[in-house]
Amino acid sequence: MDRSRILEVIKQYDKDSITIATLGSHSALNILRGAKDEGFRTVCLCREKERIIYESFGVADEILDLKDYPDLLKKSMQDELIEKNAIIIPHGSFNAYIGKLDELIVPVFGNRMLMAWEVDREKQRKWLTNAGLTLPKTFDKPEDIDRLVIVKYPGARGGMGYFLASSPEEFYEKAKQMVEKGLIDASEIENAHIQEYIVGANVYFSFFYSPVFGRVELIAADRRYEASVDGLGRIPADQQLRAGLMPTYTVIGNFPVVLRESLLAQAIKAARNVVEVSKQIAYPGMVGPFCLEAVFDENAKMIVFEISARIVAGSSVGIPASPYSYVLFGEPMYMGRRIAREIRLAAEKNMLDEVIY
Ligand code: AMP
Ligand code: AMP
Repeated sequence: MDRSRILEVIKQYDKDSITIATLGSHSALNILRGAKDEGFRTVCLCREKERIIYESFGVADEILDLKDYPDLLKKSMQDELIEKNAIIIPHGSFNAYIGKLDELIVPVFGNRMLMAWEVDREKQRKWLTNAGLTLPKTFDKPEDIDRLVIVKYPGARGGMGYFLASSPEEFYEKAKQMVEKGLIDASEIENAHIQEYIVGANVYFSFFYSPVFGRVELIAADRRYEASVDGLGRIPADQQLRAGLMPTYTVIGNFPVVLRESLLAQAIKAARNVVEVSKQIAYPGMVGPFCLEAVFDENAKMIVFEISARIVAGSSVGIPASPYSYVLFGEPMYMGRRIAREIRLAAEKNMLDEVIY
């Protein structure tokens, strides 16, 4: 979608009555609560299945029904959103269930071109490497596996169907089992991403790049709660062996994390570098939320295995404030609210063009 067409749309908006809209899933409660805290009207586009969630919390001024997520792209739906001066806040479901946003003319907060970089693992790797970060080694084909690896798939899948292997034979055996269990499609094996497994402590950093303030902000940090890997430790080792259990990584929830303070230097430097490189790869560069997913190894070295160029669901551990957002703002602040705050400030300063794409 040509950027100039979207800028045309936002030019026509009444800046005093902007609506914040998002799909009803992933981190919509976070986004909608934040929009209300900053005084915006809110719209939640949701399927029948999830309606119960958004009705229960009262943060959507209006719920618009969707049969399925891609209905967001229908002309009638887009016209209705534009009519409401809507700015869409993208999250993981946009990647997972809609994909390319080429047909979306409604302004999106952030940079939709970077979201496309996120779903392409090769591009993502290039971005992170150019930012000078340390990444796990990757293996082009299963035959090359010579150490413990984790096997993943493209897109935001929340760890579903991931598995560990230490040799080519184990890769093919486990892949077969995953297909039989219905956790993955046989075709996905060919596109699998094979990555060195880093043993250490996982931390997901939710950052925000503010064009209004020209700075990178750490808003929250979390780690995941995953089935079944987080349940295995509750079973004695001999039972694990007898039952032939293998860990899976389906995300179920998140826990807040506060880091040993001296380690923040690595994380903040990494985030700043990622923002610098983003300006070279996709104009106008990073805008708004992004997440660096990292493992700290036994030497407390940060290894980054993924970037998300949008809000991540784990940032919800920081509602109404995480230790970091509170230290920075001195008032309750969390990712949904931080997004809405940026939109409000950008509207006041005539900078909306710089925060949407
Ligand atoms: P859902 O609305 O739960 O279907 O999630 C939408 C997409 O985001 C799916 O691809 C999920 O795997 C992913 N997702 C949802 N919640 C989380 C989370 N807490 N951590 C990581 N990924 C998530
Ligand atoms: P992802 O979908 O890439 O965020 O990863 C889902 C799960 O796999 C999380 O528990 C991660 O900690 C774990 N994971 C992913 N990549 C690696 C890696 N290279 N080393 C260790 N754990 C990983």
